[in-house]
Formats: sequence, C-alpha cells, structure tokens
Amino acid sequence: MKAEILAVGTELLMGQIVNTNAQYLSSKLPDVGISVYYHSVVGDNPERLRESLELALKRCDVVITTGGLGPTQDDLTKETISEVCGRRLVLHQESLDAIKAFFKKIGREMTHNNEKQAYMPENCTILKNNNGTAPGCIIEQGGKVIVMLPGPPSEMKPMFDDSVFPYFRERSSYAIESKFLRVFGIGESAMETKILDLIEGQTNPTIATYAKEGEVTIRVSARVEQGKDAEKLLGPVIEEIRKRTGDSLYSEEDRTLDQVAAELLSGHKLTLATAESCTGGLISQMLTNIPGISSVFMGGAVTYSNDAKEEYLGVRRDTLLQYGAVSRQTAAEMAAGVRSRLKTDIGVAVTGIAGPDGGTPDKPVGLVYIGLSSEKGTVTKELRLLGNRKRIRTITALHVFDMIRR
Ligand code: ATP
Ligand code: MG
Repeated sequence: MKAEILAVGTELLMGQIVNTNAQYLSSKLPDVGISVYYHSVVGDNPERLRESLELALKRCDVVITTGGLGPTQDDLTKETISEVCGRRLVLHQESLDAIKAFFKKIGREMTHNNEKQAYMPENCTILKNNNGTAPGCIIEQGGKVIVMLPGPPSEMKPMFDDSVFPYFRERSSYAIESKFLRVFGIGESAMETKILDLIEGQTNPTIATYAKEGEVTIRVSARVEQGKDAEKLLGPVIEEIRKRTGDSLYSEEDRTLDQVAAELLSGHKLTLATAESCTGGLISQMLTNIPGISSVFMGGAVTYSNDAKEEYLGVRRDTLLQYGAVSRQTAAEMAAGVRSRLKTDIGVAVTGIAGPDGGTPDKPVGLVYIGLSSEKGTVTKELRLLGNRKRIRTITALHVFDMIRR
C-alpha cells in the first residue's frame, strides 16, 4: 500500500515548527507494510487542503493527515475532508462526554467551541484521544483509507501507536523489517563503494547508506510476510556487510558510538576519566547523557590553557614548551595525568586546534591528538580533520569513543 502524509498547519509553512509528525509516521508505517511515497504540507486553508487531499487520494491508497482537529476557527481538517468525502458531521456522544471529562480532570471550564471536536464524519472509526481533547478518525472511502490525527505530537504519537498501527497491522499481509548497522572511520562514499554491488544487486532486502558527522549508517530492510521470520533474508546480507566493514562496524542495533564504548567499559567494570582541551567538555557531556554512567565515568577536567594543563593534570612545563600544547606528548601526559589523579582504569585526553583561527603551516586547524592511558601504558593518535569548529570537535569526540571501544 502506498501512503501520503499530509500535514496541515500554517506554522509548518512559516518555518515556525518542524514537521516531526511526518518523520514519526514514516518511521513506523513500513512495519505494517505501508510504503510512504509522499510527504506534503498545506496551510490552514480549506481550498488548498481540499486540493492537496484530492491529489493525495489520486496517487495513494492511504492518506494520513495531522493537525487541524482542534476547537479553533482555523482547525478545518475534519470539515474539509468530510466535505470531499460527501459525509455529514454528526455528534459523537461518547467523544463529547470524553471532552467534558477531560476539562473536569484538568479543572478548567469547557468553552462552547470545544463541542465542535465531538462532531465526527458519519460512518467512520473514531480514535480516542487519551492525551488531549480532539479525537481522530479513520474513514474508508472507495477503497482508500483516510486517517486524521491531531497535530500535537504528544497526542498524535500515542493515538497512532494505540489505534492506527493495530488497524493497519490487521489488514496488512506483510511487514518491512529493518536492521541498522553503524560504521565509524569509513566515509560514506568509500562505504558505498565497498558495498555497491550489494546495494545495486538486491531487491529484497534493500540496502541504503546514510552519513552523519563521521558516522555511516547502513539500513538493510527486508519485506516479509506477516508473522514470518525476516532473519533468513537479512542474515546473509548482514554477514556479507560484516565481512566488508571489518571492525569499523561498531553496532548492529542502531546504537551510538558513545553508548557502545560506555557499555563496553561497564561490561568490563572499567572506570574512565577525561581531560579535554579543544572539546571543552563535550566528551564528558556525551558520557553524562547516558543513564547509569556513574559506575564508569568518574570525572574529568577541561584544561584549556597551558597553566591549567600543568596545574590540574601535572603536564610538565618542559613538554609544553618543547612540543607545544597540541602534540602527542602533551596528549599522552594529559591522559596519564587525569588517570592517576582520579585513580581510574583509563584516562583519555584530547588537545587540538578546532579553528577557525590558530592554525599554522605545521599545525593546521583540524590537527588533534588523542591520548589514552591505561595500565598497559599510554597510546596516542593523530587526527587531521576537515570542517568547521563544531564538526572538528564532534568528530574528535567520536574518535575518542572509537579508541575506547577498540
Ligand atoms: P489543537 O487541539 O492543539 O489545536 P490540532 O489537531 O488542531 O490540535 P494544530 O492546531 O494543527 O493541531 O497544531 C497544534 C500544535 O501541534 C502545533 O502548534 C504544533 O506545536 C504541533 N504540530 C502540529 N503539526 C505538527 C507537525 N506536523 N509536526 C510537529 N508538530 C506539529
Ligand atoms: Mg489547532
């Protein structure tokens, strides 16, 4: 089945909000065998909504709208769609009772215009809204299905998950199952070249790559009959990708590099401390975003100046003078210093030039050194990164997690 997601709302067209509803629905619909062919957005304007709906019904089997179900004057989705479908709006007593109960629960007076939300197209399936007032609905019309969902994501998502998803699952004969493999250290075009024959040769499963700041995600999707195991189709292809990516493949569960590194440390009961110069605390921040990290991450120091590197980490003045703050030697001493001061199993350190200023011919912007100190000694790594300050810092942090995981 082909679907179009039609988001209604002038604020979307004005750039005031991002169409996250379409993203959410698109990520879920393949699981019930629905392929999303189009995303469209239209303002709160009945003529243009009508036009968009008619077009969507012409080119798709399923049209899902979000937004415009509320009580105000500009909420016209239900009215317009009912008109296009030639259905009257009739009072749905149960919905009216639910809206009244909702207002009672939040202790507010229900205004008259809220009753409008209980008028639903005749002969439709009503979708209860447990997180707001506007019910949604499903209309079956001439072999097509129109689903209307509220705009606020906090109402739209549970309504989709609880009512719409099961509705389509019951009617779908197959599902699409996807696996996400994540690779670090191979660029997107290099990655694509490595698996181009797989990408081009396959129809089921299909393979696609996406790149995001240093990382590449490979999506492998198989179309299987409902209730059948996708593993038979996915397994061999994933095995082949594993062979070609080697140890650059760090996750088969769509996990991030920092999560994978943290899990590894936690699994081995190892503790970690950080010493950061050019990343200014980014690595600590990423670590502390992970729930339960306290058993792994003991703390860190942001040591930007030479004095701070000496004072807090015990980096020797001689080292700083002889090799400079951005050097293998300094990175190594920072890592060893933070490890011994915080008495952890591992100390990691970064020092580099994130730009845009500050580079010299022999130490250009993007030159970064990472130090990693453990009981086995201290190792360092030199990076020569391209891009702006934000990218250099982010990719540096990812390299740190990649080093930890190895
Ligand atoms: P309400 O009862 O709140 O009026 P509604 O169904 O009429 O709900 P809209 O008025 O269109 O929905 O949108 C309400 C709010 O929901 C918007 O201000 C916005 O915050 C959010 N919203 C609407 N559409 C989207 C969308 N496509 N993606 C993300 N958020 C959205
Ligand atoms: Mg509204």
